[in-house]
Amino acid sequence: MLGPLGPIGFALLTGRLVALDSQPIAGVRLIVEWGGQSVLAAADTLPVDSTGRFGGLIRDIAADSVWLVIDAAASSRYDAARIAVGKARLSEEMRVLLVPKRWTIRRGKFAGAQVPIDPSAALRRVPGYGAFARVSARHIVGWMPGSFPIPVVLRHDGPRITTADSIAFWDAARDVDSALGGHFFVPWTDTAMYGRIFPVDVRIDRRIPGAALTFATWDANGNIFEGTIRFHGSREMQIPGVVEHELMHVLGFGHTNAWISAMQTSSVDVRDVTETDVAYAQLLMAVHEWQQDSLVVGGLIEATARPETLPPKDVPSHFPLYEITASVAPRERHPRLGDSPDRR
Ligand SMILES: [Zn+2]
Repeated sequence: MLGPLGPIGFALLTGRLVALDSQPIAGVRLIVEWGGQSVLAAADTLPVDSTGRFGGLIRDIAADSVWLVIDAAASSRYDAARIAVGKARLSEEMRVLLVPKRWTIRRGKFAGAQVPIDPSAALRRVPGYGAFARVSARHIVGWMPGSFPIPVVLRHDGPRITTADSIAFWDAARDVDSALGGHFFVPWTDTAMYGRIFPVDVRIDRRIPGAALTFATWDANGNIFEGTIRFHGSREMQIPGVVEHELMHVLGFGHTNAWISAMQTSSVDVRDVTETDVAYAQLLMAVHEWQQDSLVVGGLIEATARPETLPPKDVPSHFPLYEITASVAPRERHPRLGDSPDRR
């Protein structure tokens, strides 16, 4: 916005820090470094109120971008972060996500548990498998909030899905709902587009090489709009850990070896969704939901590098191109259960 001062008009930088855990904000300042990469550039420290609001004057600068630095005291509930913002973006209201150091699970069967959070663990790649948090054009991948529960169709036009398979599948789906504390999956019968998404399609397919295979497809903003699960056979469809793992893929989560997880890649580690999985999943779903708001300029990816330990040039302001252009997730392959883990 421009002031009514004619040639000496000024512009205001305004915005809000958004605590992903919805708690009051304390121990956090916002520093604006005006010189882009220059270490000699001016910096302003803007106070932040308990609702996260900040504001200050926009300086007249030559650089194309500035750094917004979340300066968090050691005692703060939140992580520090360092976010590059283009000069042209400054006159519009900005929202910056604050990542809590611990996630308190507020819903579901693990409600009340507190789990330490490390954004870099969520983004750490398992070689050959990607990371738990998937990123598309700096958006965390997930379903649009209004998509839940996602309609899921068990297809009967291929190899037979028995009543026992169906019961086992839906028991596991309810366990994922109960772990995550929501209603994410609902039985469906037709495959026609529903709202802005397609129902998830589940089949038995003996041609697949592993225990199960899930595809999810998302748009440029990281919104998933279709998914499909293939199980090798009834045996795999009746193992809760296999079904829970595939349903977590459907929700948009990839593999991790960073914590004890249903999403580990080893076939000897088949297990149900864990407390830590739930904490990271709830955090990432909150980030995805906030990222529907175009005023959000960042927070999670940028919280992975402590500003005091990395010079600005080492902090990526964009993800690699293949992440931006890949609209179709790579296949999630799983070895046949019983395969030796060294074959992976
Ligand atoms: Zn998998």
